[in-house]
Amino acid sequence: MGDLSSKIAEIKKSASLMSDEIIAVRRHFHRNPEISWRETETSLYIARGLEELGLSVARRGFGGTESGVVADLAGDAPGPCVALRADIDALPVAEKTDADWRSRNRGVTHACGHDAHMSALLAAAKILAAMKSDIRGRIRFIFQPAEEIGSPSGARAMIDEGALDGVDAIGGMHVWSFVRAGLVQWKSGPVMASSDRFGVKFTGRGGHGAMPHDAIDPFVPAAAFVNAVQTITSREINPLDAVVVSIGKITGGETHNIIPDEVEICGSIRTFNPEIRRTMEDRLRRVADGVASAHRCRCETKVEYLVPGVTNDAPLTEVFRRAAVLAAGKENVEESPLLMVSEDFSFFQKRVPGTFFFLGAGNPAIGADYPHHSPLFAIDESVLVTGAALYAAFALSALENLKQ
Ligand SMILES: [Zn+2]
Ligand SMILES: [Zn+2]
Repeated sequence: MGDLSSKIAEIKKSASLMSDEIIAVRRHFHRNPEISWRETETSLYIARGLEELGLSVARRGFGGTESGVVADLAGDAPGPCVALRADIDALPVAEKTDADWRSRNRGVTHACGHDAHMSALLAAAKILAAMKSDIRGRIRFIFQPAEEIGSPSGARAMIDEGALDGVDAIGGMHVWSFVRAGLVQWKSGPVMASSDRFGVKFTGRGGHGAMPHDAIDPFVPAAAFVNAVQTITSREINPLDAVVVSIGKITGGETHNIIPDEVEICGSIRTFNPEIRRTMEDRLRRVADGVASAHRCRCETKVEYLVPGVTNDAPLTEVFRRAAVLAAGKENVEESPLLMVSEDFSFFQKRVPGTFFFLGAGNPAIGADYPHHSPLFAIDESVLVTGAALYAAFALSALENLKQ
């Protein structure tokens, strides 16, 4: 076995030679996007690609669907198992770019960059398959469906159906359009927030809009709740602990002159600290009950726990950081800020040590600076080579590290 830095140099060279191929594969996925849990053709394409490389596809199809692929690459010598994960779903967003490779599936687009993840991971599989004699252990490739919908989570289904069996560590990547192209970001500990959904239903007594005294108006506590709920984050939680409560939907009523029986509010809770996450349900209920009783209404509060926060294992993240410096250059590697968005990669991390890293793909000069999920979302494809190298370099580095 040569030393790690020469192996990573080899990975880097192979990746840059594959540049056109990686871009072509990414454009194939971009033209043919499929939404969460319907990634049938995408999964078939991936499975065929992996089989052509001589990998054995352990399974295609999870959660009762034909979405998701798991394949193993066994090195020439035995050892631990490191998993690499790419998510594969697109979004129900109608693309508005004029790229030659724009979506052919009307109303569906890879507007989050998961097409980039898949093409980079397939390229990493090809690079690593040619380096079997350098691999002591196994590398598992996890192509995960249904990241975007939160629930039912693709990560969760894959774990329940054995995708992590025998795995000792896992790495995952996300491209970001708001980070300059080519910049690699890592972070130890918490890095992405948990994401949970809450609903509050205020029940009063419907009546005539002209005679409110004969009715009990549920809009009044609902309106009070919209304001009062923000005092949880501004007055109850330590300002140094980041927490967000956002209301995304209010439903109730039929027309201008009728007071309805019910109004429902639904929103999102984001936290980093799992202990605070556990307290949020009681806090919301207390505020909702308080405003409801002040205005003679009844109320019901429900919290649905969707996705825990992404928390990176410190030693494994250090392994990644060192590999990234070798693969991308010291000047292109930095610590990530905390991100309030969520990722179901966190479910994998509940089972095995994992690290989730980021690759900047933003480039305003070519229009690649729209937010993720925007109909105009685009990436700078030149970063795909780095993405492939990062996946492969991380896998080899983690295997070396785990065996010690
Ligand atoms: Zn997304
Ligand atoms: Zn995404």
